[in-house]
Amino acid sequence: MTKMICIACPVGCHLLVDDEMHVSGNKCMRGEKYAIEEMTHPTRILTTTVKTTSLLTPRLSVKTKDPIPKELIFEALQLLEGIIIDNDVKIGDVVIPNILNTGIDMVATKSVTINPFH
Ligand code: SF4
Repeated sequence: MTKMICIACPVGCHLLVDDEMHVSGNKCMRGEKYAIEEMTHPTRILTTTVKTTSLLTPRLSVKTKDPIPKELIFEALQLLEGIIIDNDVKIGDVVIPNILNTGIDMVATKSVTINPFH
């Protein structure tokens, strides 16, 4: 039996998953879907920041457009640590396409103008 808390909504149901993947404790079907995915192929949206050359905005917030496999989060963070944005970016722009060959893009969650005085 595996215990987990559903993170699909703020209610936070306490779920139990038995050895045959029967889920209990969920108030709705999203909880069952979450529990089975978590047991078989856990994924997460990655939100973080990357460096820029802007003096006013030295970090740009970014996120994966869709969830990526949980086991790739650390590797993705290492990759992003080496990224330096040196061009203007608008919210929603793709910062890194197809991160770690997941088919998922990293996108900007805010805009940055590298040199607003030019
Ligand atoms: S099972 Fe449904 S109601 Fe409960 S936390 Fe998950 S999404 Fe929310």
